[in-house]
Amino acid sequence: MTPPALEVRNLHKRYGDLEVLKGIDLVAHDGDVISILGSSGSGKSTLLRCINLLENPHKGQILVAGEELRLKPRRDGALVAADNAQINRLRARVGFVFQSFNLWPHMTILDNIIEAPRRVLGQSKADAIAAAEVFLEKVGIADKRHAFPSQLSGGQQQRAAIARTLAMKPRVILFDEPTSALDPEMVNEVLMVIRALAEEGRTMLLVTHEMSFARQVSSKVVFLHQGQVEEMGTPEQVFDNPTSERCRQFMSSHK
Ligand code: ADP
Ligand code: MG
Repeated sequence: MTPPALEVRNLHKRYGDLEVLKGIDLVAHDGDVISILGSSGSGKSTLLRCINLLENPHKGQILVAGEELRLKPRRDGALVAADNAQINRLRARVGFVFQSFNLWPHMTILDNIIEAPRRVLGQSKADAIAAAEVFLEKVGIADKRHAFPSQLSGGQQQRAAIARTLAMKPRVILFDEPTSALDPEMVNEVLMVIRALAEEGRTMLLVTHEMSFARQVSSKVVFLHQGQVEEMGTPEQVFDNPTSERCRQFMSSHK
């Protein structure tokens, strides 16, 4: 059997005495789009950030395509990658799209996209540019290739950030509120790109407050509460028939 694209087992994370993730289990099979919902502070960002080691968990396992990330304890008890090669391999296989785009301001859009494929994957400049053109086309900003991030609208910057992530040919893409920093009129252009990725079978974890979008694109929905999975199921189950009272309340207050 093919192993899941991504598997998280018993993930724990604390900040000082504050336990933020209290044993998260999550499985994403190939082509799954998993929306992660929950109130502010429930641990959604921390979960995504721990998965690609932007934050260091204290306990648990992370497997990408069945391969366990090798971790070792740091002096303070947090788990860090066993070596730099682990980090590079992980970041190439698990892409991250931030709320705030995080493009390099001093580089053109094209240079933003080809940087990691060249440096991390060792692609030639010509190959990286050829691939970047395809992804720029896909997200609809081919005409912006020589512009700098500050010359783009928020929606265009986020689409550039998605193209940059795609250029690494990731196995899984994590989105942390990709439309929350956008003016309302730009939300849709980014959601349309994410929907197209879902339709081509990409495996994605999506933290979002766009409830109707989450319901439409997700194969699975996870509701987090205080660092625990409070409810998990199909969109129909979680949106329409949640078993947990907290999830029910959250859903009715986000209609
Ligand atoms: P969400 O994304 O669901 O809003 P977060 O994962 O950002 O939640 O935060 C979960 C909890 O962890 C919150 O109580 C938040 O204040 C705390 N937290 C997040 N990041 C840090 C940090 N770097 N240092 C200390 N506490 C943090
Ligand atoms: Mg967050």
